[in-house]
Amino acid sequence: MCRILLALLATLTLAAQAPVLIRAGRLLDVRTGKVLADQGLLMKEGRIAATGPWAQVSAAAPKDAALLDLSGQFVLPGLIEAHTHVLLQGNRFSQDYADQILKESVPYRTLRAAAAAKAALNWGFTAMRDLGSEGAGYADVDLKRAIEAGVVPGPRLFVAGRAFSATGTYPLQAYAWELELPSGVRVVDGVDAIRVAVRDEVRHGADWVKVYVDRGAYLGTDGRLRSLTNYRPEELKAFVDEAKRLGKRTAAHVKGWDGIDAALSAGFDTLEHADGFTDDLLDRAVKQGTFWCPTLYAGFWVAEGRGPLGRKYPEMLAIAFKKGLAKGVKIALGSDIGAFPWTENPAKELALMVERGMTPLQALQAATRVAADLLGVRDLGTLEPGAHADLVALSEDPLKDITALQRLRVVIKGGVVVRQEP
Ligand SMILES: [Zn+2]
Repeated sequence: MCRILLALLATLTLAAQAPVLIRAGRLLDVRTGKVLADQGLLMKEGRIAATGPWAQVSAAAPKDAALLDLSGQFVLPGLIEAHTHVLLQGNRFSQDYADQILKESVPYRTLRAAAAAKAALNWGFTAMRDLGSEGAGYADVDLKRAIEAGVVPGPRLFVAGRAFSATGTYPLQAYAWELELPSGVRVVDGVDAIRVAVRDEVRHGADWVKVYVDRGAYLGTDGRLRSLTNYRPEELKAFVDEAKRLGKRTAAHVKGWDGIDAALSAGFDTLEHADGFTDDLLDRAVKQGTFWCPTLYAGFWVAEGRGPLGRKYPEMLAIAFKKGLAKGVKIALGSDIGAFPWTENPAKELALMVERGMTPLQALQAATRVAADLLGVRDLGTLEPGAHADLVALSEDPLKDITALQRLRVVIKGGVVVRQEP
């Protein structure tokens, strides 16, 4: 065990210094959807320096380049998870959530988050957008920094810090009134206070502004999944405007029609969950270029603990997903892992996306190119020259069987091999 670790560390050190030349048996170009045979990839200083047919790239490669032979492998860009909670370990029932906030200290939760980040990287997720620390302050910002500094292994993190909700709308709630209890969010009300709070989140290192836009979903007499909005329209607009002014993007938690309508009107960049999506709202999302993380796996996983209506969510979401796909909504991979424990590989979300109507290629694009667009970065989710040298390799063809993504052989982040199966 120890010797393997030392050997791996030696590889890491070497890889970080010398250029590495990869021979890829098959390479997926996620932009065109084409699979290219016998390709060369030159990695230099953590970035892709050259790609193309093996003969061409290998002839032009520097003499000191180390060779990594993946000629029997299928290679694609590192996966991007666009909706995670590293500081949560599953909350099927509300008590699971309360227990974590009340019984686990933030340092303890952060240690668990570090283990979660390590697991995610091992599963091939080389970048993640983490949408709210759920009562753990800016521990997500700290984890991001620790990963960047090489203190602990993990994906490139894009974090939200503390998510926002209005007074009386988010757990912990319904305890004895005389108790002063912690909250899973930053509670803020009113336009001016919202502007200050957004500035303060950004000051603490938040890359994203996450807002709980609705709650209390119910089945309306019109047959739609309706909900109660947490904010007035001008308050939602204040979140979006202030974030934009500071160069940050915005994510809206929405379940029902009313929440989705409010989030679209305010101009949020991404919608999370959106079980109550209907044709009219999907058309607006397409027109506005809004991204959608449907979080299929979490919906399915927590259903049992969410009452009779909650058990219907997976079915509603499946219908909305098919419609959204047909209309061309920009769907990114986002499983909401954290709502389910970090022992489950979020690549299962990809399998569900395919079960619900995506082609395997569309699912792979949702986990690479589309997710990178959602993040607003050009150097992730692709293996074009200049991009981060983040990639995964497997011995099966994921275009034939998407579950093969759960059986990776190699994971490389920033030109460094972080997982290599014999
Ligand atoms: Zn979430």
